[in-house]
Amino acid sequence: MGIKLYNTWSRKKELFKSISDDCVGLYTCGPTVYNYAHIGNLRTYIFEDILRRTLEYFGYKIKHVMNVTDVGHLVSDADTGDDKMVIGARREGKTVQEIARYYEKIFFQDAESLNILRPHVACRATAHVNDMIEFIQVLVDKGYAYKVEGNVYFEISKFPEYGKLSGIPIEKLLAGARIEVDKNKRHPGDFALWLSKSKFPNQVMQWDSPWGRGFPGWHIECTVLAIKYLGKRLDIHCGGIDHIPIHHTNEIAQAEAYLGHKWCNVWVHGEFLVLKRDKMSKSKQGFLDLRALINHGFEPLHYRYFCLGAHYRQQLDFSFDGLEGAKRAYANLRQRVLEYRADSNRNHANPELMKEYMSEFENVIADDLNVPLALAVVWKVVKDIKLSSRDKLNLLLEFDRVLGLGFKTIEQKELPEVCQKLIKQREQARKDENWDEADHLREELSQHDIGIKDTQKATEWYWLK
Ligand code: AMP
Ligand code: ZN
Repeated sequence: MGIKLYNTWSRKKELFKSISDDCVGLYTCGPTVYNYAHIGNLRTYIFEDILRRTLEYFGYKIKHVMNVTDVGHLVSDADTGDDKMVIGARREGKTVQEIARYYEKIFFQDAESLNILRPHVACRATAHVNDMIEFIQVLVDKGYAYKVEGNVYFEISKFPEYGKLSGIPIEKLLAGARIEVDKNKRHPGDFALWLSKSKFPNQVMQWDSPWGRGFPGWHIECTVLAIKYLGKRLDIHCGGIDHIPIHHTNEIAQAEAYLGHKWCNVWVHGEFLVLKRDKMSKSKQGFLDLRALINHGFEPLHYRYFCLGAHYRQQLDFSFDGLEGAKRAYANLRQRVLEYRADSNRNHANPELMKEYMSEFENVIADDLNVPLALAVVWKVVKDIKLSSRDKLNLLLEFDRVLGLGFKTIEQKELPEVCQKLIKQREQARKDENWDEADHLREELSQHDIGIKDTQKATEWYWLK
């Protein structure tokens, strides 16, 4: 089946066609490892994971490359402010290296707990500085870049298509309108490829280069790594929408100036997670991170489910109420999966209907990753009495190859002893028709994440998360 993706470059949904029959190159901008990734960042990594899983579901072999930024990402995209890594090290009284390794480790742990597939290549900027120097030298030799006081800048006027990705005219992009412009720049829109000591005396990470000691800019990092690991023509490049006007615009300019031809076919961008209503969900620094959600009693997969409720090209408003709803829905699904598995009736009831659901699911997912509609199909399957438990389980497991909600590995958690006692006490209270006590015990069990369903035959319990 063909997959349609919205391409930021053409501003249209397009049928995806891979460059080679063997493998699809997928590049996703990775974390700057100076702090925990916040839940906004994580929304973008979840959307990129869905994209990768969808391509794999439809039979493409993917090579997924992601950078880990451990040098060169300045506070402002206009080449001002300190390197974020230096800020992180200062904040925690540690070395930049210690900060980088720690937050990189946590990033991959967070990603794993959210069922985000690990990239095939995850590459650190600091391990590729020589590649970047060689690349910059080519841009200088070709006349696209110039040197001032040991810094090297890309001259955007030399690249006539500059700004086409965002559609924002160069005049509107000018950094000078908002912030102080680097006086070394010939044009305020020019951007740094190499930064030297003359500009950043506090930078602790420095390398020798033909232009003096210094460090590479952030934009050059992604371009160099993408070309190094995925070749001269790239299928898909992703990130959040904030990267369209500067970071990805600069990446295109550098890559195409270097290569002399079109570089990336499809640009896919995820909309932002926003905080409109729930001020409680804000931390001092802005968004919460995954640990904060866990401290509030949520599991990482509740957050994944929450994110899947909105299309990736729509803003998603974060609130704890919304996350609570996702938690309940996910617990319900988990319980169903356990029930389907436990059902000893192994018959297929309705293969024709299964096929219909499969194609409904595939159609929506292939239509620019319409995951909210895919979740609606999940619930239709769950509620369909014409399907057997086995059919339902098989369908959910198949859908989960894209959704990544971990249906395969869901396990019945053991009931703690204290809860066994509470359930027994509650059964007794019901026998005694002591309804207040029964309600009280139900409430107490819910504190242990146990839900209670009273049927005619018996009292059943289930995990609320
Ligand atoms: P950064 O570490 O700032 O480069 O961000 C990592 C990824 O998260 C990038 O792809 C950003 O575009 C994305 N991102 C940043 N803020 C948000 C947000 N509020 N919602 C969704 N994605 C975001
Ligand atoms: Zn990038």
